[in-house]
Amino acid sequence: MNIATLRERIRDVPDFPKPGVVFKDITPLLGDAAGFGWTVERLAERVTAYRPDAIVAIESRGFIFGAAVAAKLALPLQIVRKPGKLPYETVGMAYELEYGTDRVEAHADAFAAGGRYAIIDDLIATGGTAAATAALIESQQASVACCVFVIELSFLNGRDKLARYSVESLLRY
Ligand code: AMP
Repeated sequence: MNIATLRERIRDVPDFPKPGVVFKDITPLLGDAAGFGWTVERLAERVTAYRPDAIVAIESRGFIFGAAVAAKLALPLQIVRKPGKLPYETVGMAYELEYGTDRVEAHADAFAAGGRYAIIDDLIATGGTAAATAALIESQQASVACCVFVIELSFLNGRDKLARYSVESLLRY
């Protein structure tokens, strides 16, 4: 397994979920046990260099990679979700979309003051979701150790929204 093989395991699905969007489908990668394991190891290597206290995985495909990395590194896992999904008391952060706004939420006890958190998601597009997650972490007096993605759509310049943080990605388009 190498980066070229990883690229082969990501399927382009044109016009999903709406016309003009090329969806990066990771299910062929998940279906390749060696490929998924290799990807988790590469993510874990990137994350561990920043010595975080915990992993923060973003709904929903971020859960797949974030959970595997957390288990591999024996780090606590916290989850950030779309609004209204978490059962306990929540804290949230709104962010702007092209049309309208969206919001990320975490449980109120997810982040410890002074803690350093590694954000993991499958893909960075505009960077809005990860930037809101970072802002949510900071609103709880915690900090962002790094932001790590499997895929980066670099033509959307999502890194610009994360300029204050260390950003890593395995595969760039
Ligand atoms: P953004 O906030 O624009 O960086 O979008 C990132 C989130 O949307 C991630 O959780 C991705 O899973 C999802 N996403 C955005 N664009 C795509 C795409 N082209 N293919 C797959 N997932 C995407």
